[in-house]
Amino acid sequence: MTTCLPKRALKALIPERFHQSVRLAGYRVAHYGTGRYCLCCNSRVRRFAPYGEAPRPEALCPVCGALERHRLVSLFLRRNMTRLMNPGPLLHVAPEPGIERQLRSLPGADYISTDLERPEVTTRSDITALPFAGESLGGLYCSHVLEHVADDRQAMEEFHRVLRPGGWAILQVPIGREETFEDPSIEDPALRRKLFGQCDHVRVYGRDFPDRLRGAGFSVTVTRPARAMPGGAAERLGVNTNEEVYLCAKAA
Ligand SMILES: [Zn+2]
Repeated sequence: MTTCLPKRALKALIPERFHQSVRLAGYRVAHYGTGRYCLCCNSRVRRFAPYGEAPRPEALCPVCGALERHRLVSLFLRRNMTRLMNPGPLLHVAPEPGIERQLRSLPGADYISTDLERPEVTTRSDITALPFAGESLGGLYCSHVLEHVADDRQAMEEFHRVLRPGGWAILQVPIGREETFEDPSIEDPALRRKLFGQCDHVRVYGRDFPDRLRGAGFSVTVTRPARAMPGGAAERLGVNTNEEVYLCAKAA
């Protein structure tokens, strides 16, 4: 006769700091397969799950919850390790778990995080008025936040201010058209969803996004990390071949 411990009792036996890894291990077993590989949690899974208001197929990692954009940045981080390593203080804005693990493991990174509301970050702050001294950080990562911020140019200038000369920032936003469109008078959530793509977005960025970053003082390198991948590789990794990564640098 076998004894089957209730889930709650089993959880009580395992120290709390291991709960997350035990949970991930369970998901890895449940979703194991050879069709897809998540770069954020290093899991082999059968497929990625649909996700989004209008569900996108093959979007969500069933183990760690990473989306296409997270896996693309993960690919970028792995390929550009030499350039990005040893940043010293590295700020992660509105941290996503899959990316947090990788930024924490970047050689020479002293990881800190910030968010407007979430309590579990290093320090809560508004990115248009960061509580850091000028030239005090070596790296910064902020993804899919600026489209929620009314004065995004001020946030970009803050990012530039807090970085040391030679420091880098990866600043990602959704791109929805050729030219950025914004209208601060539009406050109706339904109209914002229609025009900007989401009820809490205040603009929709266009392909001119790097110009706005350059206006804050950055030099910007635009790459498409998944563009030239061999047949089937992008699909297996669940990344978009057209999606861009914006690597910003402050002049040394
Ligand atoms: Zn994953």
